[in-house]
Amino acid sequence: MNLDDLRARIRDVTLRIVDLYAERLSLVRKVAELKAERGLPVRNREVESDLWRSVLARCGEAGLDEYDCRRIFNFLISSSIRAQVPEGGGAGPHVEVFRRAKEIERSGEKVYHLEVGEPPWSFPPNVLDSLVEAVKRGETRYGTSLGLPRFKEAASEWLSHRDGVDARPERVIPTPGSKYAIFSILSTFLRPGDRIGLMLPAWPAYRGMAAHLSLEMVEIRSMREVERLRGVSAFILCSPNNPDGRVWTRKELEELSEILRENDALLISDDAYAELSFVDRMAPARIYENTLSVNTLSKAFGMTGFRLGYVMGDEERVRKLSKFLGLTITNVPEFLQEAGASALESARDWTGRVKENLASYLDLAMRKLEGAPLEMNRPDGALYLFPRVELEGFSSMDFAFRLLEERRIAVAPGSGFGPYDDRLRITYASPDADQGLRLLREALQSWRS
Ligand code: PLP
Repeated sequence: MNLDDLRARIRDVTLRIVDLYAERLSLVRKVAELKAERGLPVRNREVESDLWRSVLARCGEAGLDEYDCRRIFNFLISSSIRAQVPEGGGAGPHVEVFRRAKEIERSGEKVYHLEVGEPPWSFPPNVLDSLVEAVKRGETRYGTSLGLPRFKEAASEWLSHRDGVDARPERVIPTPGSKYAIFSILSTFLRPGDRIGLMLPAWPAYRGMAAHLSLEMVEIRSMREVERLRGVSAFILCSPNNPDGRVWTRKELEELSEILRENDALLISDDAYAELSFVDRMAPARIYENTLSVNTLSKAFGMTGFRLGYVMGDEERVRKLSKFLGLTITNVPEFLQEAGASALESARDWTGRVKENLASYLDLAMRKLEGAPLEMNRPDGALYLFPRVELEGFSSMDFAFRLLEERRIAVAPGSGFGPYDDRLRITYASPDADQGLRLLREALQSWRS
């Protein structure tokens, strides 16, 4: 056989592999439908092990390298998982609203921003000096992913006080914001096809990340459904919650822990709004030992653009996380950690003042929205209202875009947070709150009548 013949045959075989792959995928989709109907999980380890044994045997008969076989097998299993886990919505529809709002602003028009979680206050005054001094001192070089001792100590001291937990510096690691911290945790401790629990309504990025990593979400809407969480590998909670401000009670956390403890599942406690609670908040890390507490300086400390956060958990997990961070970002810039340490060192005083400020924004919002066709509760914390809108015939996305195009008010569609197409998320603690909320009430009232 000459070279051309051989190439033609290789082409043939390759195309046959493509056809076989397509046939396999169509079978996988049928399996996915049946599993969804019966409420079965995406992965079945027994079936996979059995398949692997057959593949390995066939590889042996064909004289193939085991390593190559493993790679082919892993590729096929990941493709089965991807076919079964629905595509995620990226960062969420509120980001689409935000993008369009920015476009309008570029053309020179004012938009009232009530769609993003950007607090109205700036950072503590000592932050800027710290940042500048650290840069002048030359803290602008590579560092280690484990973080600066000063930052870890400040975070440790603050968390021990805030949550009443053992947050020794060895248990703390800085991250570039809490969003990347959550992504790092999911990437480090979970594998494609693992099941991860979530209480709705929830911040859209959790679902986006889970879809990106081919994790299967098990979503519940109240504690009545908590039994459905049996067998999950992890659970993400946020207290106070974005978008509805709900704070988990001790009893709820205990009930949840009982189920998670059965198979040592990981609890990812998104504590982005921990400093912004109007009610007594029980720290999930106090109730459940297997908790990673994810924190940020974005919200209470007004440092959204610094991209600075930190995770607290057991030392072994923190070490594993440091490897992932070392691999992907090398380290959080040290001059930012210095600035963050100063913010955390002033936290007791600062967060007290921020909370008073937040309460006055909430009072203002309740007054401004009085008489608007909205059905809502006063939130227990965080920066948002999550009302039901008494206007029919629109999806929440259409509705948010109508508010933006016709009235230049940006809000987040409820559909991004779960099955809440009759709701909007409104950031009441926003620099635009005063005017924006008044205009929102007027728009809603005029469209109702
Ligand atoms: N977690 C929740 C619940 C949020 O609402 C946000 C931001 O809006 C974040 C995490 C991310 O915060 P950052 O990445 O700025 O720390």
